[in-house]
Amino acid sequence: MKKIEFYRHNIGREEIKELTKVLKSIFLTTGPVTKRFEEELSRYMGIKRVLGVTSATAGLFLILKALDIKEGDEVITSPFSFVATANSILYCGAKPVFVDADPETGNIDLNLIEKAVTPGTKAILPVHLYGVMVDMKKLSSLAEKHNLKIVEDSAHCIEGETDGIKAGQLSSGAAFSFYATKNITSGEGGAVGLNDEALADRIKVLRLHGMSADAADRYTKKFIQYDVPVVGYKYNMFDIQAALLLNQLKLIDKRWKIKKRLYDYYCQKLAGIEEVKVPKIPARVKHSLHLFTVRVPPAKRDEILWKLQQKGIGVAVNYKPIHLFSYYQKTFGYRQGMFPAAEQIGKSTITLPFYSRLKKKEIDHIVRSLKDALL
Ligand SMILES: *Cc1c(COP(=O)(O)O)cnc(C)c1O
Repeated sequence: MKKIEFYRHNIGREEIKELTKVLKSIFLTTGPVTKRFEEELSRYMGIKRVLGVTSATAGLFLILKALDIKEGDEVITSPFSFVATANSILYCGAKPVFVDADPETGNIDLNLIEKAVTPGTKAILPVHLYGVMVDMKKLSSLAEKHNLKIVEDSAHCIEGETDGIKAGQLSSGAAFSFYATKNITSGEGGAVGLNDEALADRIKVLRLHGMSADAADRYTKKFIQYDVPVVGYKYNMFDIQAALLLNQLKLIDKRWKIKKRLYDYYCQKLAGIEEVKVPKIPARVKHSLHLFTVRVPPAKRDEILWKLQQKGIGVAVNYKPIHLFSYYQKTFGYRQGMFPAAEQIGKSTITLPFYSRLKKKEIDHIVRSLKDALL
């Protein structure tokens, strides 16, 4: 059996054609193609405004910054995520306050949030882990009660829904990622979705040096002198990225359906293997199907990872909980044992290859290898 990569992107002829057009155009930077992608993503998501940025990490930071989250503030988030989630809070000088995960989904446990609210709490930053959307109706009523903002880490979740609600619809803003292994990708890239026009305007300025007009504004419209009313950053998506994303966005639902069949096939093949559990998807959730994870006995986990690697199968661990990283322990006094559900999942989880180009016979091989590794 050939190597089964952890991820294989789906950039093909159409994307290369779009990219070539951009490379032959005047605007390599933020221009008409970025604008078109922003409009199409906002239509797809049902969000008023989308702004392209260079990563989801930058997007999360920009939303928090535009909400005026700063030193002395606290932001409640999940320790069971990629470190970028909590890092974006640190960039604002604020403190990430972790709340343990739901043992089944790994998403932030909504029942534990209220206990973590203090007078310093300004916002809640949920993560739609693997593509399973947090119950945003429940979370938004909780946030309203305590007068808190919500910023969504939706790096995994473009296609997902809970109760028909998509990411970015019931929050101040959501950040999406187009990193190399995400459902649609430009290698690196991101976007923010916002429903508040004023907040979107602030982020548009913050994403490009704090300038009141960007290069496309100056070049294609009547020349105006720009002002710099605030110190901004350099996080603007550019047309080369957008060119790669347009067609992938167009095909996103078609590819979701392919992945749904592969997801069901995985579940069917894994059913009955006693030591392997697939996390249940709550009813009312449409999974974006970003990652496919299984849980195995913690004592065997690392050995299984190595055995799968030896068979040429790409694997990952999503995630080691953030509070276990030394910086977070040193700086905030977080310790092992503080978030037992997150730690338990962190010790037992394995992410298997999962993408629309994966073949059923590759899944057969993966499952067979997993069985062998358990012996
Ligand atoms: C990938 C990822 C990010 C960061 O996305 P970038 O676009 O690489 O900045 C943030 N949060 C989660 C949960 C992710 O998986």
